[in-house]
Amino acid sequence: MTVNYSIVVPIYNELDNLDELTRRVREVMSAARGTWELVLVDDGSTDGSTGRIRELARLDKHVRPVIFARNFGHQVAITAGWDYARGGVVVIMDADLQDPPEVIPDLIAKWKEGFEVVYAVRAEREGETWFKKMTASLFYRIIHRITDVKMPMDTGDFRLMDRKVVDVLKTMRERHRFPRGMSAWVGFRQVGVPYRRAARHAGVTKYPFKKMLKLALNAITGFSYFPLQLATYVGFGAAALSILAIPVVIAMRLAGHSAFLGQATTLIAVLFLGGVQLISLGVLGEYIGRIYDEAKGRPLYIVSEAPKD
Ligand code: UDP
Ligand code: MG
Repeated sequence: MTVNYSIVVPIYNELDNLDELTRRVREVMSAARGTWELVLVDDGSTDGSTGRIRELARLDKHVRPVIFARNFGHQVAITAGWDYARGGVVVIMDADLQDPPEVIPDLIAKWKEGFEVVYAVRAEREGETWFKKMTASLFYRIIHRITDVKMPMDTGDFRLMDRKVVDVLKTMRERHRFPRGMSAWVGFRQVGVPYRRAARHAGVTKYPFKKMLKLALNAITGFSYFPLQLATYVGFGAAALSILAIPVVIAMRLAGHSAFLGQATTLIAVLFLGGVQLISLGVLGEYIGRIYDEAKGRPLYIVSEAPKD
């Protein structure tokens, strides 16, 4: 069976948001013409969300639960949503109602105009810390600078995608994922729709600084070689500098200057270059670790309960 619209929501410990989420999605979607489903991907919740999802699915046939065997992360949960969604249109959104379901009709309207990816642009963000907004803004700008894919600024994963796009994304099985980058990478006709990002309905953010950093690394390594090339640039710079320095130092010595004699100068130079080399090794390590993960070829996620139909 296929449906017109699939709303995909990753869930990680969102017990206090589930009822309100389903209620508002139901309200919005029953006003839209066409059949729909709400794919709730439980990403190894430990707060009882899993039981509530099963119950919601029993009460409302629109709800299709996909339950993971453990926590695999937000990006992987979105991927499972792509895999299980049956809709001709797939909408991804967060469970905490920061992405208001009421925006979905606007996204659908753009799709009807012929756009295949309609991403929601955060015109305003409520109830988020100054630090979160600052790091997020910096992140988007760095990504924009150094990656080859022109990802739209200030957009999250909240977006609508046509079946054509989802079918392409389903073939991209990379382990360290950045879904919003992937959905920009595929091309097609894309457009943004501005919206007000609300404050969380209930619960706390599941994205501490550490996870944001990890996501940023996935985004950079997944779409750019820039960090690898940086080592080359610094290497050329240092080599050029030392070649220039040789005649200068010889001339100064012959002229009787006693500059650059001390141990301190040597030590600083050695420590600096040692640092640069270790950082370059670390960058290399990031890429090699990712190659290793790909080589293992493990499944992206493990589902303990798949939807029955
Ligand atoms: N989430 C998930 N797995 C995780 C972390 C988060 O499925 O390991 C879900 C979470 O339940 C929510 C969405 O991803 O639906 C976005 O998370 P959150 O609202 O905490 O991120 P923020 O909006 O603070 O960036
Ligand atoms: Mg949120």
